[in-house]
Amino acid sequence: EGMTVAEIAKKLHREPAELIKKLFMIGVVATQNQSLSKDAIELLAAEYGIESEEKVEVDISDLDVYFNQEVDESKLVERPAVVTIMGHVDHGKTTLLDTLRNTKVSEGEAGGITQHIGAYQIEKDGKKITFLDTPGHAAFTTMRARGANVTDIAIIVVAADDGVMPQTVEAINHAKAADVPIIVAVNKVDKPSANPDRVMQELTEYGLIPEAWGGDTIFVNISAKFGQNLEELLEMILLVAEVQELKADPDRLALGSVVEARLDKSKGPIATVLIQEGTLRVGDPVVVGTTHGRIRVMVNEKGRRLKTAGPSTPVEITGLNTAPLAGDQLVAFEDEKTARSVGEAREKQAMAEQRTATHRVTLDNLFSSLQEGELKEVNVIIKADVQGSVEALASSLNKIEVEGVRIKIIHTGVGAINESDVTLAAASNAIMIGFNVRPTPQAKVQADQNEVDIRLHRIIYNVIDEIETAMKGMLDPEY
Ligand code: GDP
Repeated sequence: EGMTVAEIAKKLHREPAELIKKLFMIGVVATQNQSLSKDAIELLAAEYGIESEEKVEVDISDLDVYFNQEVDESKLVERPAVVTIMGHVDHGKTTLLDTLRNTKVSEGEAGGITQHIGAYQIEKDGKKITFLDTPGHAAFTTMRARGANVTDIAIIVVAADDGVMPQTVEAINHAKAADVPIIVAVNKVDKPSANPDRVMQELTEYGLIPEAWGGDTIFVNISAKFGQNLEELLEMILLVAEVQELKADPDRLALGSVVEARLDKSKGPIATVLIQEGTLRVGDPVVVGTTHGRIRVMVNEKGRRLKTAGPSTPVEITGLNTAPLAGDQLVAFEDEKTARSVGEAREKQAMAEQRTATHRVTLDNLFSSLQEGELKEVNVIIKADVQGSVEALASSLNKIEVEGVRIKIIHTGVGAINESDVTLAAASNAIMIGFNVRPTPQAKVQADQNEVDIRLHRIIYNVIDEIETAMKGMLDPEY
C-alpha cells in the first residue's frame, strides 16, 4: 500500500503518463501522485508481465489441475460418446446433422422444436449419443488448440459421387492428430452416380481400410438426405463407443468445455457447455476460461430447463460475468468465494500472458525443446505445389533420425498454406513447410498470431538440411 503512480513508474523505468494510460485502459483513473490500491498495482504488474508479491498461487488458477485430479475408479459409470462430423464441403455434413436432429431428438416429445445450441443428444437403443453441431474440422481443431479434447469419435463423411477430396484428407489428418477413432460414412448412395467402392479404394491410401479388406475401419453407406441406413451408422457409433469404454464420475463437481458462446442483449453472456466429468447444477459457482459466475439457468437443445446436467450432456448456461470462448474449460466449485478468486486470478494472468507468448515449437528452439525432453517427435506439415514434391519431401524427412527423435508428418497437401493448416499446426505444435508455395494472406496473419513457424523453400535438400541441423542444435538463430 502507498506507492504512487510516479514511484511505480520509476521502478518500472517507464513514464508516469504511460502508466496512467495503462491504468485508464484497465478501468482505473489515477494521477501521478496518487497512491494506488493493491489491486491496481497487481493489475499494472500483470500488464507488464511482472509478478507482484501478492501473486496468487499458480496451482489454484491452473484449471488443468482440476481436470487432472485423481479419479475414483469405483465411481466411474458409462457416459455417452461425443461425436464430431467432418468431411469435404457439400459432402453432406449439415444434412446428416439435420436429419439426425430432426428424426431422433424430438422422438417421444411431440412437437419438440430443437434449437441450435452447438450440440445435441439423441437416443438409440436406450443409449445416448452427443453430436457436436458445428460440422467441420476447423471448430474441432480450434477447440483442441485451446485445450479441449471433447470428441470421442469422428465421422468422416465422403460423398459417394465425388470421392476423396482435399478437405476429406484434412479431416482425416485432424482426427488422427487428435488420436480420435474414425468411422467413415459414405454418403449420397441414393445417387445413380454413387460409387462407394471407389471411396473405399481411395481411402486405403490414407490408412482407412475396411474390415472386409482386412483393415479395422468401419464404413457405413448412407443417404443423409433420405435417412437411409442412419440406424446402422448409430449402431456403429455405439459399437466404437463401447470399445472405448467411455466413463465419467457423475458425483463430483462438474468439469466441462465450452462449445459455443455469445453475448445476448437481454440475457447477457450465454455459453453452451459440454459436461465432461461430474454433474453441473443450477446455482453452482463456476470458473469458465478467464471468466466466472454462478449458474443461473440451464437449458438443453429443446429449450427445456434443467436442474442438473451429467457427463456428455450439452447445456446452455447463463450467469457468467463475460462471454467465454469456444474451447474454454469449465470448473465448478463448492463455494462462490473460491470460484471468484480463481476466476479473478485467471483474468489477471490472461492479461499478463497476452504479452508473453506461448511456447511454440520453432526451428530456433527445436534443439532445446528436444534436449529438455519436451519433444519425442517433431510434428511437420508439408504443403507443396505438386504431389510429387510432397512425396519426395515426406520420404526424405521420414529418414531423418537424430538421437532417437524422428519426424512425424501429420498432414500433407497440394496448394497454398491455408488457415486450416495453421490451426492444425498450432494445435499439434507442428512446423510448417511450404515447398514452392506460400501462405494465403489470412493464413500468414493467423500464423503470426499463433506463432506458427512457417519455412518456405524451393530446394528439397535445403529443407532436409535445415530440419536436421535444427534437430542437432546447430542452427544459427534467425534475427
Ligand atoms: P456440407 O457442406 O458437407 O454440410 O453439405 P450439405 O449437408 O450442405 O449438403 C450439400 C448438398 O448435398 C445439399 O444440396 C444436400 O441436399 C445434398 N445432399 C446431402 N446428403 C445427400 C444425400 O444423401 N443424397 C443426396 N442425393 N443429396 C444429398
